[in-house]
Amino acid sequence: MTGSPLLLIDVDGPLNPYAAPDSRCPEGYGTHRLLPESWVARHAPQPREQVEPLRVWLNPAHGPELLSLPYELVWATTWMDEANTFIGPRLGLPELPYVRWTDLFGEGGEDPDGLHWKTRDLVAWAAGRPFVWLDDELGPQDIEWIAAHHPAEALPLWVDPRAGLRDLHFAALREWAEDAEC
Ligand SMILES: [Mg+2]
Repeated sequence: MTGSPLLLIDVDGPLNPYAAPDSRCPEGYGTHRLLPESWVARHAPQPREQVEPLRVWLNPAHGPELLSLPYELVWATTWMDEANTFIGPRLGLPELPYVRWTDLFGEGGEDPDGLHWKTRDLVAWAAGRPFVWLDDELGPQDIEWIAAHHPAEALPLWVDPRAGLRDLHFAALREWAEDAEC
């Protein structure tokens, strides 16, 4: 649907509540042990067979819930295109566009305005379209900067990595999309 707001989705935190209490798989989630190539590459020169897979918790209800929202879904995650291989199919999501980062993990150094390393890329990628950004790492400085530099409506929405996406987030997303239409 042209004209829908964008929903920029982080994986680790919102979809994978990696910080859940007692390191227990939260109710409704399944445990996946995943070995994406980007993870293997970060361990170079360690051979692939010796790299510990990532433990990822995913809730299969999240895919249909996200698809039912009046948004265009976009991956905004360190998984980049690997979210389409490893995450989307496990949630029943189709292939989605993804944001390619200019400074993955902020390894190029501290942002001059103290922004998260995703923030400038996301605003550039949105190119003036309304968006909601779901992430467990965004902070007040990102919210302020987006309000000052993005010409359309935007809602950076922090998600607790101990709990992941919850009903309240889906309700907030529906409400925001309705308001954004006015
Ligand atoms: Mg995250």
